[in-house]
Amino acid sequence: MPQGTHGSEARVAKFKAYVIEKSDSGSKGALTEFDDANLMDGDVTFRVEYSGVNYKDGLAITGKAPVVRRFPMIAGIDGVGTVESSTYGAWKPGDKVILNGWGCGETHLGCYAEKARVKGDWLVPLPSSISARDAAAIGTAGYTAMLCVMALEQHGVTPDSGPVVVTGAAGGVGSTAISLLAQLGFTVHAVTGRPQEAEYLRGLGAAEIIERKELSAPAKPLAKERWAGAVDTVGSTTLANVLSMIRYGGAAAACGLAGGMDLPASVAPFILRGVCLYGIDSVMCPLPRRNEAWKRLERGLDRRKLATMSSEIGLSGLADAADRILKGDVRGRIVVKIG
Ligand code: NDP
Repeated sequence: MPQGTHGSEARVAKFKAYVIEKSDSGSKGALTEFDDANLMDGDVTFRVEYSGVNYKDGLAITGKAPVVRRFPMIAGIDGVGTVESSTYGAWKPGDKVILNGWGCGETHLGCYAEKARVKGDWLVPLPSSISARDAAAIGTAGYTAMLCVMALEQHGVTPDSGPVVVTGAAGGVGSTAISLLAQLGFTVHAVTGRPQEAEYLRGLGAAEIIERKELSAPAKPLAKERWAGAVDTVGSTTLANVLSMIRYGGAAAACGLAGGMDLPASVAPFILRGVCLYGIDSVMCPLPRRNEAWKRLERGLDRRKLATMSSEIGLSGLADAADRILKGDVRGRIVVKIG
């Protein structure tokens, strides 16, 4: 056991993991045994109890985009669990931790595994009133939704400024953003391609449901002012239309590309209405802001709503879940039970 290492890590040589290997067709994932000795460098090893399925996990598992940049790769950008051993001062065995991003599942071995080894300064403490399962249900999607809300608040958008819009509403980021904004007193308009989910979205707090196709035609430079703020998970023409409809002095927080990576917009909203576009990144977001986001999630996210937006699978359900999330078929969040 390395000097300064605590715990029983050395006793478990192999553990279950969802591993992606390079293949003739690109890459291929499978549930297999992974050798402890092949874990990457890191000063904290933790037992992963829960993970989740994010859009990026769907891309990694299916190989539909070059998300994985090292093989073999254990997929899974989120992990929640218990520290098993640590040489990092802030963490000791038994501590409950959350991991979101930092390249896990992309360049560093991720969390669809019974064990993960990472840098101690990547970890956030699991807030005392949030269960490990709920933290995974929130996951990168929910924490990104909170980063979007914080950006709008810092811009000065308040419930009195006017309604706010959330695109990709029935997805993971969208569902959490609606719930958070409604809880803060905002009037929330939800844009969805799944009108059959209207009741679900109203249950999360949406006041109005807007059909996706209303925002999918080529955008005019400026259109009628509708919203004081926006959380956009879709990009492309959807974001271009949203920007053209933000009220004078308002802001949009852009975090996603579910509809495309392009942005066929004009500068008119910025230079004629003083609109601001905030870029939101969860992967490399500095620790103090992560900690703030998770503290806000602890007190600002209605757990009953979180329960209505989450379902659970095991590691064997990952391939199917990955296909579904890329098709836009997943409602809310999928939790992956590991331990
Ligand atoms: P989900 O798949 O859960 O949600 C995406 C939603 O977008 C879908 O549910 C659907 O909502 C809508 N959608 C899907 N395809 C299209 C399309 N072709 N045109 C318009 N709308 C579409 O994914 P997540 O919520 O986990 O992630 C959303 C986006 O945010 C992804 O692009 C993801 O990569 C990105 N992301 C970025 C992060 C960052 O750090 N910047 C962190 C987390 C996510 P509906 O059916 O209601 O229309």
